[in-house]
Amino acid sequence: MMQTKYFKFDQIKEAVDLLKGGDIVALPTETVYGLAADAKNEDAIKKIFLAKGRPSDHPLIVHIDSLDMLNECAQEVSLQAKKLAEHFWPGPLTMVFKKRESVSNLITAGLDTVAVRMPQHPVMLEVIKMLGRPLVAPSANAHKKTSPTKPEHVLKTLDGKIAGIVDGGICSIGIESTIIDMTKETPVILRPGSITAKALEQVLKVKVQVPFDHNQKISGNMKIHYQPEKPLFLLSLEQIENLLHTESNVAIMHYSDLDKQESCVYYKMSSKRQDYAKDLYATLHAIDATTVEKIFVETPPLLNEWSDVKDRLLKASKK
Ligand code: AMP
Ligand code: MG
Repeated sequence: MMQTKYFKFDQIKEAVDLLKGGDIVALPTETVYGLAADAKNEDAIKKIFLAKGRPSDHPLIVHIDSLDMLNECAQEVSLQAKKLAEHFWPGPLTMVFKKRESVSNLITAGLDTVAVRMPQHPVMLEVIKMLGRPLVAPSANAHKKTSPTKPEHVLKTLDGKIAGIVDGGICSIGIESTIIDMTKETPVILRPGSITAKALEQVLKVKVQVPFDHNQKISGNMKIHYQPEKPLFLLSLEQIENLLHTESNVAIMHYSDLDKQESCVYYKMSSKRQDYAKDLYATLHAIDATTVEKIFVETPPLLNEWSDVKDRLLKASKK
């Protein structure tokens, strides 16, 4: 165990010094908190897998602050990828490219591709700029657990296992980036996020593929992920109301109005996707801190726009 140092958002230099020394530090991004290491330091990268308990066959996303850094990682950046970069970077979009030889196999889990993103958060961008190198940063939580959108969520599973954390308050988007594979003839969405297929198609002027099942090495593809401590069940409003005839001590996450029972705890979620997404993980963390036995979640609206929220809830739910 080590002492995890806590830094305010303006103590960036201290965090950069730790990263320069080969340590790993949790940093705020606009999606979720990331656990960062110098992408050029293999010993530091190994510490990420160790701290998270993440299997080594799950590749990491490289975070950059400029197109120069992209060119150092990617062998070739197509015209279409350039269009997406221009339109959505910095922002919650990760693109997969053919990797350059110089990108460590520890980052890519031996794949010949590399996932790259330019984040929008000022702290993350400033740290990359001061370090002058890309950072690898998976979500700052123990493997398979609920992603962190506040510093206390990070500390819940990583306190004493990481050198430091920079407090950037709550993450504004709250759900991991959209991942799109740009190495194929037709771009393929590997993980849904707040940037939708439709938004990508509007810029690319071609259809993108949205597969439901694929074999890419991608943690978003694991059947279980993002799981809270309490068992979570994704149900219709009707199913919830029926179950509550016999169930008690349940947390209920809903966005529709419903009749409340005294023996349950209710979490009213927004019916706006953006606000729902921002609160999703924080609500799951809050429920985990209570004494309820299970979580019933009202299935989100059946609209494309909600596909990222639905994806995360499905993976968080009890199979
Ligand atoms: P996390 O770090 O937990 O947000 O997850 C990062 C995601 O990026 C995981 O789902 C990885 O599998 C995915 N990823 C990283 N590199 C690649 C790659 N080269 N090809 C496909 N997916 C990747
Ligand atoms: Mg993760």
